[in-house]
Amino acid sequence: AAAASAAAEEPVTPPVQVDHTQLLIDGQFVDAASGKTFPTFDPRTGDAIAYVAEGDGQDVDRAVSAARRAFDEGPWPKMTAYERSRIILRFADLLEKHNDEVAALETWNNGKPYEQAANVEVPMVTRIFRYYAGWADKIHGLTVPSDGPYHVQTLHEPIGVAGQIIPWNFPLLIYSWKVGPALACGNTVVLKTAEQTPLSALFVSRLFHEAGLPPGVLNIISGYGPTAGAALCSHMGVDKLAFTGSSSTGKIVMGLAAQSNLKPVTLELGGKSPFIVCKDANIDEAVETAHSALFFNQGQCCCAGSRTFVHESIYDEFVEKAKARALKRIVGDPFKRGVEQGPQIDSTQFEKILKYIKSGIDSGATLESGGQRIGSIGYYIQPTVFSNVQDNMLIAKDEIFGPVQTILKFKDLEEVIERANATSFGLAAGVFTQNLDTANTLMRALRVGTVWINCYDVFDAAIPFGGYKMSGQGRVRGIYSLSNYLQIKAAVTSLKNPAW
Ligand code: NAD
Repeated sequence: AAAASAAAEEPVTPPVQVDHTQLLIDGQFVDAASGKTFPTFDPRTGDAIAYVAEGDGQDVDRAVSAARRAFDEGPWPKMTAYERSRIILRFADLLEKHNDEVAALETWNNGKPYEQAANVEVPMVTRIFRYYAGWADKIHGLTVPSDGPYHVQTLHEPIGVAGQIIPWNFPLLIYSWKVGPALACGNTVVLKTAEQTPLSALFVSRLFHEAGLPPGVLNIISGYGPTAGAALCSHMGVDKLAFTGSSSTGKIVMGLAAQSNLKPVTLELGGKSPFIVCKDANIDEAVETAHSALFFNQGQCCCAGSRTFVHESIYDEFVEKAKARALKRIVGDPFKRGVEQGPQIDSTQFEKILKYIKSGIDSGATLESGGQRIGSIGYYIQPTVFSNVQDNMLIAKDEIFGPVQTILKFKDLEEVIERANATSFGLAAGVFTQNLDTANTLMRALRVGTVWINCYDVFDAAIPFGGYKMSGQGRVRGIYSLSNYLQIKAAVTSLKNPAW
């Protein structure tokens, strides 16, 4: 009831204004060629915040030309790596200075708790850029032994124009995972934001230019997927694509890349990640971590721990405690202090989640808590917990992308390994146990890109992240993401005097 009243109160005024709604092409804010705009919404109310320029194929063309010029003629890839690094570092300083404004824009447009945006996400974005600034002048090739009379070396060169497409759930964080390595390696970028959340990327990209980024190096297109997004994927002037979003869109993106110029593609896609609580786990810690693994960011995380497998010997206790924790979760206006959960992003996601909740009830799972919308304004949903969930239920198979925890029961390790892996996804997994051998066995057996043991959602600039199977290709963050943005050139020189 406390949660319901919090959400129904008058929304708090965001401590920020919207300064930028145009496209950012060649260092200038410009209208879309068509002159069209589209509304972007406040998920707390469903009201429009602003009208944003709606980019389409013509604008993508303009942006790719600018990025092409900035790559082919420079100065970006031709600058010293140290100069590039310093510009990225100056940008990180500006971002830090504007931390709270940026966080407010993120909350306003996305609905995530302001405290989370201001204290965790935006500082993490700054951290990611500093990390990649550090890499800029440490990227270099090798000297390679050869069987013949040759001197052989490799040059690590930027690929060229990178096309990047991002989703709405972590608009700036995913921006940093994409833009950071691309720019550090000397590429130029055309980035399309998600149609739901165009605002923060425009704001911070202005800061990038204030930091000295040359025009054309970073271009931002707001707009829809099938128009602006598809145009970027098909563009013959784009040398590399990086996409984060759903697996179904990932297939389209890869198809368009293949049908145009076979540009290489990296994908970060969806998941249905298992969170396995073994019989010897510290139950209270496991309950709390499983709760945040699922409910964090309104349940809108690609790596949400969305299948909570609990050993039969502790199942009932775990369910009771998980339910009690969900009932305590504070849902409300994300600008208010102490709020843990804001509204879902939009009406489409909101309706989809409510349908999944109904399907859980209809298929015979036990609704332990939640299940309803909160209030009548905006897209708030009660933290929902289902027990007695079976593997074949839709709520255990599909990515719900909302605040719905599904708790399944298991008997032994072999069984849970098989069930955890019986999905076309493979993004992440959580393991709770105090037994080292159990931890190591699960860590090795799970077919996923990240295994968190006695923790979850630990993100760090240096830790690689990505998916097995239909959860993606390639890795973001860390040293591994650099290879997404580099070409390797082998240079072979004949040696007249092979004795040396
Ligand atoms: P989505 O696939 O609908 O949209 C993602 C982006 O793709 C948006 O910018 C959209 O405009 C664009 N797009 C849509 N259709 C397109 C097309 N035909 N051509 C080119 N671009 C197109 O996904 P979403 O609903 O915005 O995001 C949620 C999904 O993203 C979830 O499945 C989630 O798991 C996934 N995700 C994955 C990660 C990860 O790191 N693996 C991170 C965040 C989100």
